[in-house]
Amino acid sequence: MNVILLGPPGAGKGTQAQRLRENYGLMHLSTGDMLRHEIDKQTDLGLSIKEVMSKGGLVDDETVIGMIATVLEGPEARVGIILDGFPRTERQAIALDLMLKKRKVAIDHVIEIKVDDEALVKRISGRYMCKAKNCGASYNDFFKKPAVDGVCDVCGGSEFMRRPDDTEEAVRTRLKKYYHETMPIVPYYLEKGLLREVNGMLGIDKVTEQINALIEG
Ligand code: ADP
Ligand code: ADP
Ligand code: ZN
Repeated sequence: MNVILLGPPGAGKGTQAQRLRENYGLMHLSTGDMLRHEIDKQTDLGLSIKEVMSKGGLVDDETVIGMIATVLEGPEARVGIILDGFPRTERQAIALDLMLKKRKVAIDHVIEIKVDDEALVKRISGRYMCKAKNCGASYNDFFKKPAVDGVCDVCGGSEFMRRPDDTEEAVRTRLKKYYHETMPIVPYYLEKGLLREVNGMLGIDKVTEQINALIEG
């Protein structure tokens, strides 16, 4: 099974992708995480995208398409994938179809997580992550604190971090990009009969329930 999670920044794509991975054994592919990894490692690519990412702009299509192509060629993607944050432009959507066709697989579900702008800004301004390597569990000042204050539920770590692009200004830019560059791919998947919506304004568990119902229905 191959699933695309579509939705604006802060909609809950990463949170729900993690659950899909646990529940269905799919591989979670986040282009945002891959790009941040390049920045952390200070690779040439990382250095070249650092500024555009911190301001909330999009990285160029060739770069992200190339990253996805590399993963799709490997054996791990065969179990099925959850795409989180890709495709984000029409060119990426078309490139994805070609890559999948070559491998004789297809997208089974495109799930759009709908959330109001003001709620998005609040979610993003409250977002923080566990800093431990190989953990990265996601928390929120307003919506999802760890069970014990200052201690990661997953790994017991006590160091956390925030993303440099989770400022209100960068979020506004990212929202604009979403409406101008990414929303135009909605009709593309609508025509293919793949697009389904879930109400992302509900709590995290309720959103998971809606997604599971779509997948299993
Ligand atoms: P995205 O990957 O779409 O940017 P995340 O999954 O990182 O979104 O979620 C953004 C922030 O909002 C995180 O801090 C997360 O804990 C929180 N969050 C996710 N889903 C919900 C929800 N349904 N209700 C409230 N907060 C949520
Ligand atoms: P969110 O969904 O919370 O906005 P992501 O982690 O998916 O965050 O993306 C963070 C940033 O990484 C984006 O603002 C953009 O700069 C870059 N990025 C991620 N995926 C893509 C993509 N498919 N195309 C272009 N840029 C991307
Ligand atoms: Zn942790």
